[in-house]
Amino acid sequence: MVAFDPADSRWLSSLPENSTAIQLPHLDGELVTDEDALTEAATDYGHLVHDRPRAVLRPGSVADVVTLVRFANEHGIVVAVRGQGHSTFGQAQAESGVVIDSRTLATVHEITPGHAVVDAGVQWLDLVRITLKDGIAPPVSTDYLGLSVGGTLCVGGIGGASQHHGMLVDNTLELQVVTGDGRLVTCSADHEPELFEAVLGGLGQFAIIVRATVRLVPAPTMARVYTLTYPRVTDLTAAQRTALADGRFDYLEGQLVPTDDDDFAFVLEGGSWYTAQPPDDEAVLAGIEPTGVDVVDVPYFEWLNRIYETVEQIEALRLPGPWLNAFLPDAATDEIVTELLTTLTPADAGGVALLYPARSSLITRPQVRVPAGEVFFLLALLRAVSPPDDAEAERLIADNDALYARVLAAGGTQYPVNALRLTPAGWRTHYGDRWPAVLRAKGRFDPRGVLTPGQGIFEPLSRAPGTP
Ligand SMILES: Cc1cc2nc3c(=O)[nH]c(=O)nc-3n(C[C@H](O)[C@H](O)[C@H](O)COP(=O)(O)OP(=O)(O)OC[C@H]3O[C@@H](n4cnc5c(N)ncnc54)[C@H](O)[C@@H]3O)c2cc1C
Repeated sequence: MVAFDPADSRWLSSLPENSTAIQLPHLDGELVTDEDALTEAATDYGHLVHDRPRAVLRPGSVADVVTLVRFANEHGIVVAVRGQGHSTFGQAQAESGVVIDSRTLATVHEITPGHAVVDAGVQWLDLVRITLKDGIAPPVSTDYLGLSVGGTLCVGGIGGASQHHGMLVDNTLELQVVTGDGRLVTCSADHEPELFEAVLGGLGQFAIIVRATVRLVPAPTMARVYTLTYPRVTDLTAAQRTALADGRFDYLEGQLVPTDDDDFAFVLEGGSWYTAQPPDDEAVLAGIEPTGVDVVDVPYFEWLNRIYETVEQIEALRLPGPWLNAFLPDAATDEIVTELLTTLTPADAGGVALLYPARSSLITRPQVRVPAGEVFFLLALLRAVSPPDDAEAERLIADNDALYARVLAAGGTQYPVNALRLTPAGWRTHYGDRWPAVLRAKGRFDPRGVLTPGQGIFEPLSRAPGTP
């Protein structure tokens, strides 16, 4: 595409004479409007929202992102970046706007023993493959590595090592971003700290991340993984609290695992890393008394990448994915989960339901909202509706809304990768005392409100498309 007609918000492949169309500035990459590109940009992992953009930018350079964002500001066009599209509810979509496909900006620029400099479109899997050759890796990883760096840093990035290291955003040292008003800025805790704080966990509202410097630490070669079974969910959380308190595992998660009799088993998943000397099983298991114990040793990379193929298989089924991820205050966790289990069926949980603790003192980025108190639990209902059924998906979204209300009432928060029908007022509640800072940052960095409408945090652009 080479031109845009603001009269009817159309992108044109030629510039007609005597028309109202405006020539696009030069792009190193391409702006496309073909059916396949628009359809892909109007869907995501959740298959619940299909907001169609009018064009997709495949940037050939950071300069292209700057050019597009400035053009969008001039002409009142909304813009969203799509990393790997693993959102579940249209968060990376931009109805009638432009989606920037960050997969074309995916270079690993630099690896040192302490950090890596990467483009936002890089997948963690690709980064980890490279860094592990030098015996280093990020200190925390998401369970699934096929996510983009930019998409993950927009939400937080939690995993089984968060109990020791916080989230991926807590291990990000510097960002290069294009602000919503089209400025290319490098920011860190020391330089442009308001921008840095706004963008990490900022759900794409203030700037587009184009490059990130992420922390690396020495990595082990092996993981010993303990799968420990408990009869009741409260036995699981008690064991997790003990393990969290003494930090015995390098990795600590837990799951509600469906059983053959349509119920759940409660499983603690603990990982101890080693390179030469395997951990002492007796010491690792002391005082947490599981009823079932399974121990396996796997190469560290295989452990980090353990669910990649399963996710690819699930993705191929294109199932509706009405996810709910909530952070529960420690004091309310047992009550909420016990109550939930009186109605939750394995079919409602849809495959994977996670439950594990982390420490709020390690979550240092203010945009990531965690409950008050030192310990909180992630409850993640990673639902998939199989076979696909719109009415069932709707029922589960309504169920998410009700469960989220319960979590809020108990002082909990959401981890914002969900299928929740949140209004701007609901987002205000989510941000709580952070809301004034969110508004200030929006006004300062994306004053025309062009960025990332699919999150639904702010009212949609009120101007008619094409009106400057
Ligand atoms: C199978 C699976 C497993 C997961 N496991 C975990 C887990 O263990 N831990 C965890 O924390 N999360 C997990 N997630 C959630 C995941 O971290 C988020 O959904 C993440 O946002 C997806 O990354 P993505 O690259 O697909 O982003 P997208 O879905 O493409 O985008 C997500 C949001 O970020 C914005 N965005 C993307 N890139 C940029 C950028 N460069 N600059 C500005 N905004 C941008 C988008 O516009 C959108 O609003 C998982 C998701 C899936 C599907």
